[in-house]
Amino acid sequence: MKIVAIDGPAGSGKSSVSRAVATKLGFGFLDTGAAYRALTWWALELGVDLSDEDAIVGLLDSFPYSISLDPSNNQVRVGTVDVTEWIRDPRISLAVSAVARNLRVRDWMKQSARQLVADASFPGVVAEGRDMTTVVFKDAPVRILLTAQEEVRIARRAGDVASRDLAETTASVRERDAKDSHVVDFRTAAPGVTVVDSSDITFSDTVSTIVDIVRAGSNA
Ligand code: C5P
Repeated sequence: MKIVAIDGPAGSGKSSVSRAVATKLGFGFLDTGAAYRALTWWALELGVDLSDEDAIVGLLDSFPYSISLDPSNNQVRVGTVDVTEWIRDPRISLAVSAVARNLRVRDWMKQSARQLVADASFPGVVAEGRDMTTVVFKDAPVRILLTAQEEVRIARRAGDVASRDLAETTASVRERDAKDSHVVDFRTAAPGVTVVDSSDITFSDTVSTIVDIVRAGSNA
């Protein structure tokens, strides 16, 4: 099982780039942010206070989370409910950092991501998030930090969420990165992590750059 670990800030394009890299290599694709989003959705659904760390941890034992690692179908479910679209709602993006700073949640997420990858029936998995290169898959043969200048990330994110204006998107991307960076550093590359800056290159060039790194680094 070859693991490609990719981290990056909000709007760096890591989900779409990672999915495309996985497709090109015939690998699975694991979006680890989806689990934090789904847990946030589940807690809000049950009326649990997100700042109550014990209550959130209490949800984990019976958190009926599942995600497909097929890059052409990343369905996310909580129990029988398909939450794939709902977890992208700005309501969740605004709230998710409160859940992600809970260290016991992070530990559960780490074990869960490792288990999902161990159970995958692909020759490799591209796993993306905030702590893939530094914690969850820190021994992966290929580790990449995907960055882009802030204005580029904001413009991309504004394009993704059609109903929002630029000022709102700027505030939301900045706020989420600032909150998230209290628990994990995804802005500077750890030793051995390759930085790919996508600010001035197209989507498909970003994908090919990473595919080339994987092929050079692990004979995929
Ligand atoms: O990648 P995405 O924007 O969907 O991630 C949603 C949130 O989940 C992030 O803002 C962060 O709070 C949290 N997250 C994390 N560690 C990861 C992946 C996501 O803390 N590996």
